[in-house]
Amino acid sequence: MLKKSKEVLLDSDKAKAHLGISTEPYLGTVGAIALDKNGNLAAGTSTGGTTNKMTGRIGDSPIIGAGNYANNDSVAVSCTGTGDIYIRVAAAHEVASLYKYKKLSIEKAAQETIKEVAALGGTGGIISIDKNGKVGYAWTKDKLGMYHGEARVGEEPKVFWPLAK
Ligand code: ASP
Repeated sequence: MLKKSKEVLLDSDKAKAHLGISTEPYLGTVGAIALDKNGNLAAGTSTGGTTNKMTGRIGDSPIIGAGNYANNDSVAVSCTGTGDIYIRVAAAHEVASLYKYKKLSIEKAAQETIKEVAALGGTGGIISIDKNGKVGYAWTKDKLGMYHGEARVGEEPKVFWPLAK
């Protein structure tokens, strides 16, 4: 069915069709960002890419600076969504640049970057953390159900499933 559609889809679209549900499950990409007690920042992004992608396509996830970026001097970032647009925006590095050079908060830097992605027709989300442990989450409006969580030493883990912005 998906192949017949001749559409390029995200993992989450595939999951949605597979589960036969209309709400956004966001079961595709897994992103992780971390800050350790020594001040090391790290980011990881795992994806199946997009459904019906061209043979040989490389998405944003394995491209440092596009779908993934970490630098101890600033932030760690992991992205999901229409990777071709994230590559054009150099989205993960854009978050770092806005934070580092424009001195935006991590939250604002993620939000400004997702606006740039959306302006080019992209959809998806960004999770990020700065060197002080502050987090910035942002997603395009159609990804309202994109869930994410936080685990901090000595605190109960938190899970967020935002319903509206
Ligand atoms: N960003 C990925 C890609 O374009 C898709 C995803 O979010 O899983 O390959």
